[in-house]
Amino acid sequence: MFRSHRFLSLMLSAALLFQAVPARAEEEKTSETGFFLDTVITITLYGDKDSTAMDGCFALLDQYEQMLSRTVEGSDVWNINHSNGEPTEVSEETAWLIETALYYSELSDGAFDITITPLVELWDVQNKASLVTGDETAEEAYASGLIPSEEEIETALLHIDYTAVSCEGTTVTLSDPEAEIDLGGIAKGYIADCLEDYLLSQGIESALINLGGNVQTVGTKPDGSSWKIGIQKPFGGSSDIITVVECTGESVVTSGTYERYFEIDGTIYHHILDPNTGYPADNGLVSVTILADSSTVCDALSTTCFVLGLEDGMELIESIDSVEALFITEDEVMYRTSGFPEN
Ligand code: ADP
Ligand code: MG
Repeated sequence: MFRSHRFLSLMLSAALLFQAVPARAEEEKTSETGFFLDTVITITLYGDKDSTAMDGCFALLDQYEQMLSRTVEGSDVWNINHSNGEPTEVSEETAWLIETALYYSELSDGAFDITITPLVELWDVQNKASLVTGDETAEEAYASGLIPSEEEIETALLHIDYTAVSCEGTTVTLSDPEAEIDLGGIAKGYIADCLEDYLLSQGIESALINLGGNVQTVGTKPDGSSWKIGIQKPFGGSSDIITVVECTGESVVTSGTYERYFEIDGTIYHHILDPNTGYPADNGLVSVTILADSSTVCDALSTTCFVLGLEDGMELIESIDSVEALFITEDEVMYRTSGFPEN
């Protein structure tokens, strides 16, 4: 099944038909795929007999996209970005998420920064990935604007500063009217946590939520054993697994260059941007995987550590209780924090 909010009702009726004849061996398993927040998401549930929980999950995904997407007109984030420096009223959830994001900015001295938007728009990695033919020379790529100029980067950097964002209760104000926020580095984690809470409230004790590599497990597998989450080999196919993490209710989130990138003349330009340089973080890492109970924490820290690099990222994670990390370098060496499982 494939769903997006646009075709929800159509797909709903198709889903009902499909689920009316479950396979006998997996009587209670249902799985559906959709596209939200620019990401392919898959939800797998056990024991969702009348598809209430699945429908509820997709309704929540739609609701959070309408609230948190930078590009959906009228979302909280859109309203903040179009406020011209005036105070903006947002939902309690948006306010909490922004405050949490600011916490990780402080913690990382600005490596994680939700005012990254001017750079996200300038690099426009997702769009460019579909424009690049692979034959461009670096010179041509600069000339055609595929690679931004130094000047454009300097201009974008003028408006990147998380201290311009303030949040009092549910009122958000940008002290720089030209600053714009983007919750892409943390929103999927938050949404995964919300889906987990929702599923537990619906009595679902066994589920797997995958928001484009942002994985949240709910409970155990139906037979009581742990979920085995495969960590993808960088630049390999989705079935090319480099290691496996066992989970019972935890979240595993990976930020990697290979998720969204374009390549010019052997150089990879990806979507995790360094607020210090204005360029895609370039420190020898290809991915950072975080393991923790909270998917919000995992998501924020995977992006943060990717920007910080191996040494500072390791140090940061070792200083936080109950959070573990796996760093993979360009030469495919794996570095685990002391509590990250080996197998
Ligand atoms: P994804 O799961 O989509 O790959 P990540 O959690 O790795 O996302 O975060 C990357 C996204 O976060 C980017 O697409 C962009 O929207 C945003 N982003 C990029 N660089 C930063 C940064 N330094 N701090 C905060 N957010 C960032
Ligand atoms: Mg992230």
